[in-house]
Amino acid sequence: MIIFPDLPHVQVEEVEVAQEITLTLRTTSPTASCPSCGTASSRIQSRYTRMLHDLPSVGHPIRLIMHVRRFFCKKSTCAQKIFVERLPDLCRPHAQRTKQLQEALRQLGLTIGGQTGADMGSDLGISGSRDTILRLVRQSHPSAHSEPHVIGLDDWARKRRLRYGTLICDLESGLPIDLLPDRSVEIGSAWLKKHPSIHVVSRDGSSEYASAITKGAPQARQVSDRWHLVKNLAACVSVQLTQSLTQLRRAEQAEANATQEQQPLPQHHSHPRTRGSETDATSSSSGTNSSLRADHGTAAARDEKH
Ligand SMILES: [Zn+2]
Repeated sequence: MIIFPDLPHVQVEEVEVAQEITLTLRTTSPTASCPSCGTASSRIQSRYTRMLHDLPSVGHPIRLIMHVRRFFCKKSTCAQKIFVERLPDLCRPHAQRTKQLQEALRQLGLTIGGQTGADMGSDLGISGSRDTILRLVRQSHPSAHSEPHVIGLDDWARKRRLRYGTLICDLESGLPIDLLPDRSVEIGSAWLKKHPSIHVVSRDGSSEYASAITKGAPQARQVSDRWHLVKNLAACVSVQLTQSLTQLRRAEQAEANATQEQQPLPQHHSHPRTRGSETDATSSSSGTNSSLRADHGTAAARDEKH
């Protein structure tokens, strides 16, 4: 089998290729083991059909129609008289998605979050709602033997603007490791005291978290988390840019005012000068009159001589 190389007892009966690829599958193992007592049984009680979603292939969503069987348990003392054959390599009991599709959704949730993971998954043909992704993330448990060394504390909204809890993440594995019911110093410090392996705690600017860490994990170094550092930096840069922009606008306005004062007055503002010209013309005219009067004087003197 090409599509399911690790499932030797699953046979493909039909393939329908349309916008969605539909595979009809049937189990072929002669026996199945009772999940309660482990006894193998070959006595089939009935058959039924399961629908499963799988990872897409070349952009086409894949849907599996699984014909599975119910068996009688042969062990008389077993409490489970009838059981459904399991397909542990393909899917979990009662799941509607294959294990590989669930793992892809879980990785999306761990990497970019529930809603964003659902949006990106939809673009990639990996179907799963925000709630489905968050449920898969919550079901993933870190190794019980790994004590955390570097953790992050942040709040999460149980009811936005009203009730907040504390989310604790292992920053080395990138996995959430616990949820606390609130942000109080008492509960936070009590949790930290149970994990003496912690030596670095990343947190926001909350004084409650600072006190909880100081009280519960005094050996740990407290550092500001990257998100809040970037947020605070962005706020400072925004304020600085706003102040600089205001200063630039004031300087531009002052320069414009100075330039306007230095420019010569336009022509239509020289009305007094026009009046001055008229005065000059009048003076010239008076001078002409004086000349005329002098000429008349000269003529009168000539008349007296004659
Ligand atoms: Zn049994």
